[in-house]
Amino acid sequence: MQAAIYPGSFDPLTFGHLDIIERARARFDRVVVAVADNPQKHHLFSVQERMDLVRKCLPAGKDIEVDSFKGLLVDYARKKGINTLLRGLRAVSDFEYEFNLATMNRKIAKEVETVFLMTGESSFYVSSKLVREVASFGADVSAMVPEPVSAALKKKFGI
Ligand code: ADP
Repeated sequence: MQAAIYPGSFDPLTFGHLDIIERARARFDRVVVAVADNPQKHHLFSVQERMDLVRKCLPAGKDIEVDSFKGLLVDYARKKGINTLLRGLRAVSDFEYEFNLATMNRKIAKEVETVFLMTGESSFYVSSKLVREVASFGADVSAMVPEPVSAALKKKFGI
């Protein structure tokens, strides 16, 4: 049984995340989408809202679990008994951060391996940060996020 954890802020979920999840789903028996509950980071959506949006947008199936985690990711991975972490890479600019993160995680838990999937060609420009920014000014983000996320953004910004 090959399982992987896909951790992230998902603030909010985008088509970029969904593309990674769908491709991972085709390659792993089980994918755990793990929403980071980090009180030190200022999020637009609460952890509960972020999880609810992921659940709304993901085609249901026994092979997908949506969960949240606090603290060290590798501790969470150990608790789940899963030693593969999944991350997405968009551009060279993602590389340095992801490389450092993966190396750090391997230093503190050598059994944990990070696997990278390249962004899908239609979502290489999509990031939660940019989506939040443009949505706050009323831009139509329906090409970047699923409908429930678009609706939640409009509600959040009172548009
Ligand atoms: P974090 O805040 O932990 O970086 P994000 O929610 O922004 O988390 O993203 C989680 C993971 O998904 C990261 O590895 C990020 O690089 C990847 N990701 C985000 N957007 C895209 C995208 N458009 N294409 C591919 N990977 C993406």
